[in-house]
Amino acid sequence: MLDNIKDAVRKFLSGSSSYEQAVDEFIKDLQKALISSDVNVKLVFSLSNKIKERLKKEKPPSSLERREWFIKIVYDELSSLFGGDKQPDVVPDKIPYVIMLVGVQGSGKTTTAGKLAYFYKKKGFKVALVGADVYRPAALDQLIQLGDLIKVPVYGEQGNYDAVGIAKRGVEKFLSEKYEIIIVDTAGRHGYGEETKLLEEMKNIYDALKPDEVTLVIDASIGQKAFDLASRFNQASKVGSIIITKMDGTAKGGGALSAVAATGAIIKFIGTGEKIEELEVFNPRRFVARILGMGDIETIIEKMKALEDYDSIQKKMEEVMSGKTKLTLRDFYKQMIALRKMGPLSKILQLMPGVNMLGQIPEDQIKVGEVKMRRWMAIMNSMTYQELDNPSIIDKSRIKRIAFGSGTEIDEVKELLDHFNNVQKMLKMIKRRKRDVEKLFGQF
Ligand code: GDP
Ligand code: MG
Repeated sequence: MLDNIKDAVRKFLSGSSSYEQAVDEFIKDLQKALISSDVNVKLVFSLSNKIKERLKKEKPPSSLERREWFIKIVYDELSSLFGGDKQPDVVPDKIPYVIMLVGVQGSGKTTTAGKLAYFYKKKGFKVALVGADVYRPAALDQLIQLGDLIKVPVYGEQGNYDAVGIAKRGVEKFLSEKYEIIIVDTAGRHGYGEETKLLEEMKNIYDALKPDEVTLVIDASIGQKAFDLASRFNQASKVGSIIITKMDGTAKGGGALSAVAATGAIIKFIGTGEKIEELEVFNPRRFVARILGMGDIETIIEKMKALEDYDSIQKKMEEVMSGKTKLTLRDFYKQMIALRKMGPLSKILQLMPGVNMLGQIPEDQIKVGEVKMRRWMAIMNSMTYQELDNPSIIDKSRIKRIAFGSGTEIDEVKELLDHFNNVQKMLKMIKRRKRDVEKLFGQF
């Protein structure tokens, strides 16, 4: 089960075996978990090969532990299995657009039909619902209730058992009334309880409607059965997208990957509760983070993001040094935010080149630094963009306003501005020295 991956991550991050051994073990655990979730074996091996290749080629950044970095790679590669950085396109590419929902009883089709109608209505589409589940008692009532709630019309025929006819008449009626998105809810269990009959009915409805999209609705906790189930539905009516429901109740969602593998369809939404608004556009990265164990992953991702911010700041500093641009308070501010995200000041200082050469920085001085940084951030929050970009315009009256607005003292604002000026002076000095050195080297 995919759930086991979370344990493997934890074991890996806190394990005592050597890094190389731990990596091997982790990859084996990952493969086992994926294969036992019916994920295609080829897919599993190409995933592990990609991970191993990146391990060989890339170097961990200085702010991450090697193990954290490894998990980040696993996270990247697993995410790309689910669609990577791409958010699925959930806005129909043509109008009118007919969506047919399929899936077993209890998977959440009817609820999801209501959620989808609400989602698209909010986006400004003219939406309608068709109830073609003729077997479940009160199925139509359930849909009508949802329709009333969100003010979307529902077509159904009480007491009629001709699902194909009802679906066809409903869709035709709404098409003639110029509805833009029509969502058809179907049965999850046939009256005679046989799956083959149900799939036959799906195929007949599909042939009669020729819907623009067939959406398979699956329960997140379905696990290993998802692969076969999804393939069978896919044979009856080509599945174009998948919605995973009940993601709030379980952290598993393992079936999702299997369903994706079985159908080649993409996951578009996930259901995260019983309420009508509890539908989220699927985000592959967030989903994989859930599989891997959110808490462990989140901090690593945060660090990576901060590092990217930090890289862009360093680039800017290089530009400042080469005289291409001027340093502004806004850069200063961004730098502080990035630093804060990277962890406690003491840890960051150790990572910064050159700081070690200054010798140990006393603990209490670091604490003072933390407090000061927070106050300076507040001060800069009270400045206008104009002031941040061009600090030289900050006169006495502006200083007074900024101190008042940030709940700090006038002296503190002055201190920040002085510090900023000193940094600028220092930069100029370094620039000059760099030029001198270049001159010197030029002579040789
Ligand atoms: P259907 O038989 O496929 O039409 O399934 P229903 O729409 O009737 O849903 C079956 C049950 O699952 C109902 O009790 C729903 O409230 C519940 N349900 C559907 N989607 C979700 C979800 O995303 N989260 C939770 N917690 N419950 C859901
Ligand atoms: Mg239903």
